[in-house]
Amino acid sequence: PRRIVIVGGGLAGHTAATTLRAEGYDGELILVSDEPCPPYDRPPLSKELLAGTVDDTTLLTAHDIEVRTGSRALRLFPDAVESTTGTYSFDGLVIATGSSPIRLADPSPRVHELRTGFDALRLREALRTASSVAVVGAGWIGNEVATRAAALNLEVTVIDAASAPLARAMPAPLAEHFVPWYADRGIDLRLGAPVDGVDERGVRLADGGRVDADLVVMGVGARPATGWLHGSGVPVAPDGAVEADATLRAGPGSVYAAGDAVRWPSSLFGDRLRVEHWDHAAASGRTAARNLLGLGEPYDPVPYFWSEQLGHRIQYVGHHRPADTFVLRGDPTGRGPWAALWFQGPRLRAALSIDDPRTTRDARRLIAGRVPLSADRAADPDVRLNET
Ligand code: FAD
Repeated sequence: PRRIVIVGGGLAGHTAATTLRAEGYDGELILVSDEPCPPYDRPPLSKELLAGTVDDTTLLTAHDIEVRTGSRALRLFPDAVESTTGTYSFDGLVIATGSSPIRLADPSPRVHELRTGFDALRLREALRTASSVAVVGAGWIGNEVATRAAALNLEVTVIDAASAPLARAMPAPLAEHFVPWYADRGIDLRLGAPVDGVDERGVRLADGGRVDADLVVMGVGARPATGWLHGSGVPVAPDGAVEADATLRAGPGSVYAAGDAVRWPSSLFGDRLRVEHWDHAAASGRTAARNLLGLGEPYDPVPYFWSEQLGHRIQYVGHHRPADTFVLRGDPTGRGPWAALWFQGPRLRAALSIDDPRTTRDARRLIAGRVPLSADRAADPDVRLNET
């Protein structure tokens, strides 16, 4: 291609752009982003940046990339993107618009969300003067914010409609082991508490109760930011995901998709997957770029995710279905490391580990290699996972 346009200046778009140059692509390369700044990293926003140990997470972009900031893509045509700053024709396109937070209430001085660097700096500033915080959503980001607010000795309440924390990520019998962590940090966890709305005093609960707080932080999930593809011929599922093939190609012509916005068929797991993970954003951005250059590589990673919350390092590798059963490795009620392992017959499909990076590393290799294991032996924390 002579002109490649990448829409979305997050990690997936950034990695696609730098990969194209690293692979020797010397045509025109335009990266269109609706944010006011060049690509930056998001995981530190709810960790180091909120804690004040980092102020800037800008990613170093290869030279010779035209970054058009403040430019929102509005429509896609077969060979051009129409944006708020002009129309860019292309011979190759990468869709990398990521996802945006689901809103139960619009941001206001009291109501915060956490997706952008601007959101994170605004929240950090607000936390300085607040004495109480209500976090709506006991998900990964909500828990990270609650962890920080508790470290600042604020009065913290985490509210979730589900009966266990992290309900979208793991089954309730597993997530129940996380519940005591909130009390350990002085956080009031309210489960089974759907939110009715937010007003000038705080959060209104559907059962008529209230959680009054100086700040309300919304962490109720994200949705692919793909509205601009409407009517373009690129297949978009009802949940907003771009439906790509096994090479991340997403439509007629040289159109590829990467990052939070894409769903792809995983031959390793036999499912179509969409994940909102840093590791996948980078890996898929790389594959999309290489395939735009004609390499035709299948994209079939073992998804990997980490989070730091409530004093623990949590890692997840692989993919399990909601109905899959798991075995425990180690004691989740103790203070030491432990893990949960999902099996399908003798094949390990996924591993969740708490403060146990070695099990995560071993699991990742075993899942990728489709190595058969004994679930009984894998459950014994004294046996190294790759020796089972
Ligand atoms: P994004 O990062 O969302 O980038 C998409 C870009 O496209 C954005 O700049 C957006 O503004 C822009 N855009 C959207 N629509 C348009 C349009 N129409 N026109 C132009 N530009 C547009 N993952 C982990 O694995 N571990 C973690 O610990 C972790 N922590 C996280 C903490 C926070 C606070 C957040 C928000 C995310 C975290 N993640 C974490 C998830 C990870 O950061 C995302 O999966 C990753 O950023 C996805 O990259 P992306 O490029 O697909 O999308």
